[in-house]
Amino acid sequence: MMANTAVTLENIVALCKRRGFIFQTADIYNGLNGVYDSGPLGTLMKENIRQAWKRSLKQLPYDIVFFDGALLGNEAMWAASGHVENFHDPLVECKACNARFRTDDVDLEKACARCGKKEWSESREFHMMFKTNLGASVEQASVAYLRPETAQSIFVNFKNIFSSSRVKIPFGVAQLGKAFRNEITPKQFLFRMREFEQMEMEFFCTREQSKELFDFWRAERLSFFTRIGITSERLRLRDHETDELSHYSSATSDVEYLFPFGWKELEGIAHRGNYDLTQHSKHSGKELSVFDESTKQSFIPDVVECSVGVDRLFLTLLFDAYVQEQLEKETRTVLRLHPVIAPIKAGLFPLVESLGEPFARLAKDLQGEGIEVQYDASGSIGKRYRRHDEIGTPFCFTYDYQSETDGAVTIRHRDSMQQERIAMDQIGLYLRTALMWK
Ligand code: ATP
Repeated sequence: MMANTAVTLENIVALCKRRGFIFQTADIYNGLNGVYDSGPLGTLMKENIRQAWKRSLKQLPYDIVFFDGALLGNEAMWAASGHVENFHDPLVECKACNARFRTDDVDLEKACARCGKKEWSESREFHMMFKTNLGASVEQASVAYLRPETAQSIFVNFKNIFSSSRVKIPFGVAQLGKAFRNEITPKQFLFRMREFEQMEMEFFCTREQSKELFDFWRAERLSFFTRIGITSERLRLRDHETDELSHYSSATSDVEYLFPFGWKELEGIAHRGNYDLTQHSKHSGKELSVFDESTKQSFIPDVVECSVGVDRLFLTLLFDAYVQEQLEKETRTVLRLHPVIAPIKAGLFPLVESLGEPFARLAKDLQGEGIEVQYDASGSIGKRYRRHDEIGTPFCFTYDYQSETDGAVTIRHRDSMQQERIAMDQIGLYLRTALMWK
């Protein structure tokens, strides 16, 4: 299998800006490196990604509860997790032009790509957490960090969640939300950002259950990506070598995607043992074990973690769906997105504006039901199709003169471009069925 060679990063960046998926943040002030805003379509599509992830967890035969932790965390918490000490990347600086790079991104035998000189500094560790002080005080006690991952707030709340929810081991706690990393070199658009969003799930279990559950989650997470429409041949699971593993992990697998710039991590699945809860118990002095009825003993549960970035998945979906097709007289750009992921589910077109009333009303009804459709009455029907092909709208309906008498409309399918007639009062049912998903 090849990467999707029909598409370049430049195509995606241009499409995102042109059609309102993603903008460079504070664009009119020259932006902020590694930080982006979502436009109207990007906002819809990201929400679809989050919903699909939540639904995929809810469909499983396990208890999974959801959690929403704070973005700011105190120093003690991040010291206990090991982040204050260990969350850094190696950095090297060009002494001639002061450009900074991740050491593993440059060949120190070669000259600086920015200025052409070869005057490298020693490599040193660069800390990636954003540090701040709360309130007016600058004492150590007021130090806070923006979270570089969502997982730790689940661990520090483990006892709160366990005692307040009706869950039993094994069970999962899932969280989605922003994370911040002061990446040395943000790059490849949404692939490596400084402010991004994660979807993480920590699954608590016994040591005996953990091996089987690790295998279960590897298979389940890989399957999730194909179920939201990503080409299976461009996905693979890669087990980490022993020397790649984090100090706390006994096994880690990445789901990787074949980007135009190579196979890269999309999601990490890690067997974290009971490292995190043990650390937080030690540092806080609080008991974080649970009681096992069968053995009548207390134990600190093991954890299998699944962690994926919303933005990285968003980029992956765009790369995978982007196609340019040569038609008789023109090239059409199509995003072959799964209907569940597509930001707009249907275009509703009156053939001419004077026929607009029934579809304008239907658009409002469907939107009220939570089905995102767009009423579009301007330009030729062909132009309207192209506009919607490019943003991945799976279905377009056209209301014409004949509809006035027979109550039927034309449905046109994005991928095949085939058209057929269906009763107008069946549109809602048609879309609801297309959006059912497993
Ligand atoms: P990488 O090796 O690519 O830096 P990582 O191993 O540091 O990733 P994790 O800490 O495992 O990443 O984070 C889990 C997931 O969060 C990643 O698989 C990715 O989807 C997403 N992610 C991590 N860092 C970023 C970032 N800077 N920008 C966008 N998404 C990110």
